[in-house]
Amino acid sequence: MMPQRITIVGGGTAGWMAANLLAHHWREQPIDITLVESPDIGIIGVGEGSTPSLKRFFEDLGISESQWMSRCKATYKVNIQFSGWSPNSGVHSYSHPFISQLDTFSERPFQVNCYTRRLGLDVQTDPAKFLFNGWLAKHNLQPNTPEHFPFNIEYGYHFDSGLLGQFLCEHSQTLGVKHLQRKIEHINQHPDGSIASLQCDNGEMIDGDMFVDCTGFQSLLLQKTLNVPFNSFKDNLFNDAAVVFPTHTDDNQPVETKATALSNGWAWRIPLTHRTGNGYVFSRDFITPDQAEHEFRQHLGLLDSDIEARHLQMNVGQVSQHWYKNCIGLGLSQGFIEPLEATALHLVQTSVERFIDEYEAGHFSNKRQDNYNKIMTDTFERVRDYIVAHYKLNTRDDSEYWIANRNNEHISRPLLELLDVWFRRGDLTQHLREHGSESHFNATSWHCLLSGYGAYPPLALNQPGTGDLYIDNDLESFFRRCLLNFGTSLNG
Ligand SMILES: Cc1cc2nc3c(=O)[nH]c(=O)nc-3n(C[C@H](O)[C@H](O)[C@H](O)COP(=O)(O)OP(=O)(O)OC[C@H]3O[C@@H](n4cnc5c(N)ncnc54)[C@H](O)[C@@H]3O)c2cc1C
Repeated sequence: MMPQRITIVGGGTAGWMAANLLAHHWREQPIDITLVESPDIGIIGVGEGSTPSLKRFFEDLGISESQWMSRCKATYKVNIQFSGWSPNSGVHSYSHPFISQLDTFSERPFQVNCYTRRLGLDVQTDPAKFLFNGWLAKHNLQPNTPEHFPFNIEYGYHFDSGLLGQFLCEHSQTLGVKHLQRKIEHINQHPDGSIASLQCDNGEMIDGDMFVDCTGFQSLLLQKTLNVPFNSFKDNLFNDAAVVFPTHTDDNQPVETKATALSNGWAWRIPLTHRTGNGYVFSRDFITPDQAEHEFRQHLGLLDSDIEARHLQMNVGQVSQHWYKNCIGLGLSQGFIEPLEATALHLVQTSVERFIDEYEAGHFSNKRQDNYNKIMTDTFERVRDYIVAHYKLNTRDDSEYWIANRNNEHISRPLLELLDVWFRRGDLTQHLREHGSESHFNATSWHCLLSGYGAYPPLALNQPGTGDLYIDNDLESFFRRCLLNFGTSLNG
């Protein structure tokens, strides 16, 4: 039953990640993998921040950082710093650090302190103080684990997505992937509706047993040809557009992404070695693209600059079936949950890994398709809930956009229940464990978000002045000693 030919359509980051993972996994099998892309259509060319799963992606492929990072102008990312999302709670900015092995010592004290603070007691609850990557970000230190240091440090990357695609394209050739530059003009189907072949603009026909749709937002195979419906998340994620500008590199490049709330959305700032990526993600229901561009130029100090902006539109949501007949969708063609927290490539990687597991478990048939679809739908929904919480919990009053986000009642039951547990002073960690909803964002990440937003009751009148585990466990001194093992930022 093993497929002889897997055909991937699309050479954006999703297509090339898929080509490498599939070809690497089945390197001993007689499976031909072909990737076809149209240079005339091109790639979306944004998507420059990752989660730590990209580190595992390269490790699994046996590619070292020295091989790819300088080629892709990459920098390290240990943290996301959120500014201006919850000013009325008194928190100007907070960090969501990636969680490392070292944090085993401090995660529990952090969660207990958050609980104590929910009881009204004045204890330390700043996530960046409890998680080692918060310290690395503050001191702008490289996250590579020194050889003698007994704990692994988790981190992600910032990179140029075009260069990453080129790098992965080259690497896939070493794994035997066939690369064709053609535009697909028509898709031929078998009588049962499954995909038979792809017709190229030069008249050539490309066959396949299994097809992977990586054609970006247009979702040529899965949505356009197989008519798989798209379930929009628009009722709880309002953003549907972005305006993007590159600027010069920062003198002292941070090892973190900055996510700053603006009047009708938020702006990212991503440091690469050759430039800084900037984008303003907004909702066209509340601000026009021209207004957003003007505001963003002002924010970046580029009002008098003739630097050209790129405007993009986004479909936020997911397909109702990520695998249908003999086709799976990956990347933007399967769905997108907006760029906050930079989860898109993580979802591509998870999808490919899951697909491999389910496809093999079903002996290369569609037997496990329903299981795969359920897992991917849940994964997308739980990631979405984490992102939605950033909007729901905001305390800004400067625009209808932020007020509408805060008042929005279209939020999922799992998210409602989770917030209920938090505000009723329940055990959030236990709740997430019991509901199996840790997904990509675990209990500590949820504590970072809720604590970072200052989602706490007012302080009690009487303060015992004891019971602060940050002080009792002497965590500051512990982290300061750990910091001595790490060097300054590559580009600092
Ligand atoms: C504003 C914004 C910010 C983002 N930020 C992040 C981030 O920080 N981190 C993150 O992980 N993700 C981010 N993303 C998502 C990220 O950009 C994508 O997940 C990633 O680039 C993968 O895109 P893709 O490969 O699915 O699609 P694309 O890059 O659009 O590639 C589509 C491919 O399909 C090909 N194609 C299309 N039609 C045809 C045809 N008819 N014939 C042949 N080939 C065809 C094209 O040539 C192209 O090669 C962001 C997205 C947006 C919109």
